[in-house]
Amino acid sequence: MDRSAAPSGDIERLRTIFDGQQAAHRRDPVPSPARRRAQLRRLGAAIKAAAPSIARAISADFGNRAPQETMVAEVFTSLEAIRYTARHLVRWAKPERRPVSIWHRPGHAELLRQPLGVVGIVVPWNYPLYLAAGPLVSALAAGNRVMVKLSEAAPRFGETFARLMADTFAEDEVAAVNGGVEIAEAFVRLPFDHLLFTGSTRVGRDVMRAAADNLTPVTLELGGKSPAIVCDDFPIAIAARRILYGKCMNAGQTCVAPDYALVPAGRVEAFVAAAGRAVQGLFPTLRAPAYTSIASDGHFARLAGYLEDAARMGARLHPLHPEPSDPVARKLAPTALTNVDLGMRVMQEEIFGPLLPIVPYERLADAIGFVNARPRPLALYAFSDDRGAVDRILGNTMSGGVTVNDTMLHVAQDALPFGGVGASGMGVYHGREGFDAFSKLRGVYYQRRFNGAALLQPPYGARFRRLIGVMLR
Ligand code: NAD
Repeated sequence: MDRSAAPSGDIERLRTIFDGQQAAHRRDPVPSPARRRAQLRRLGAAIKAAAPSIARAISADFGNRAPQETMVAEVFTSLEAIRYTARHLVRWAKPERRPVSIWHRPGHAELLRQPLGVVGIVVPWNYPLYLAAGPLVSALAAGNRVMVKLSEAAPRFGETFARLMADTFAEDEVAAVNGGVEIAEAFVRLPFDHLLFTGSTRVGRDVMRAAADNLTPVTLELGGKSPAIVCDDFPIAIAARRILYGKCMNAGQTCVAPDYALVPAGRVEAFVAAAGRAVQGLFPTLRAPAYTSIASDGHFARLAGYLEDAARMGARLHPLHPEPSDPVARKLAPTALTNVDLGMRVMQEEIFGPLLPIVPYERLADAIGFVNARPRPLALYAFSDDRGAVDRILGNTMSGGVTVNDTMLHVAQDALPFGGVGASGMGVYHGREGFDAFSKLRGVYYQRRFNGAALLQPPYGARFRRLIGVMLR
């Protein structure tokens, strides 16, 4: 990870880009929907054309990441978001008539959605394309200028994407910047009109503090421990397969990966056996490029440390693949853990890797209680064909989003808002809600030449008394 200090020249450069974008916004504060749609199309064409080099850059940053994973989880999702948003944005941008009460007629009211101005986006390393392009799509659709800060932990992607943006947009439309933590800190101190940060809860706190000095509103897309609850009625092999796919995609380095599984006590053994079959079905060998590497030695050591810590404290480790981990290639063998204890690091910290603690439960109420005793997660997964059980889980827990009977797929629904709650974040984007997140929802009341407003103004006489008597009835 490049944590080198950035020369102050780079920090000055941030300010220059910001000033240029702000001036451009003032010159053209409400770009036409046609122009915004053209920007989205340009972005889509650029991503599509560069997809192979993007996949290569990300793979090099990770040590190895399956290009197929990049195509499915980053390129396809980004292009879908662009298509969906381009299709709807003309309608979203239209003034919306809102009702007025009888007392304010014959005037009328409208809600305008106007661009905020200059938006900042901070991107993590784990899905660097989708987590840059997703917010960028919403912010451009809403008519903003956008500065994107890419992650120093994905430097090759950072270079590729910054070049792509420079080739595709004028600097006062979209500018992508790279740099270490010092640049990131300077970036979030810019007086943006809105700042969207995706990353860890710890850094999210610092970002919100820095934004507070400028009263910059923030959307925080953070992480956490997302549970998967398997109900007694659900076929255990199907649940195991879907949970392990979610766990092993990007080798578990996914904000919405199922972090741990709550499994009926009597079915834990069957679940572990099915999990092993699922992993070996997905990845006949861990050595092949299809299985992604842990992105850095630091993260590999952190995950290996979780296993050691858990084993020392009495957990049982169940390797889900016959091949061992390879620290040189940073391939970590998927492993289930049973007999876990809440004091273990693997049960306290966000795992962000292919380790799956299994927590047994007796009654559904116990599983719900377990989830509710911890910070509100980014995602929750419920596996049941019993609508009553699913409704009980949905009605008695809280999380950023939910997929029922699978993992992660709620994120790919462009018509659904995406965002955490509590420790997993605040605010939402994607689709209509993303358009709104980067718009000023500006209420406008249009008065008519002839109206009754004067009836309530001084001097207060008998007519006022009669009228207010009716109004306060
Ligand atoms: P991170 O918090 O270390 O870094 C994220 C970004 O913040 C990077 O671009 C970095 O340059 C920048 N940054 C670092 N220090 C900063 C500071 N002091 N001030 C301002 N910016 C700073 O996170 P990461 O390791 O890149 O990503 C992993 C985390 O992100 C996990 O917790 C994961 O759950 C979370 N995540 C959340 C989502 C989501 O959509 N909610 C998506 C992906 C990842």
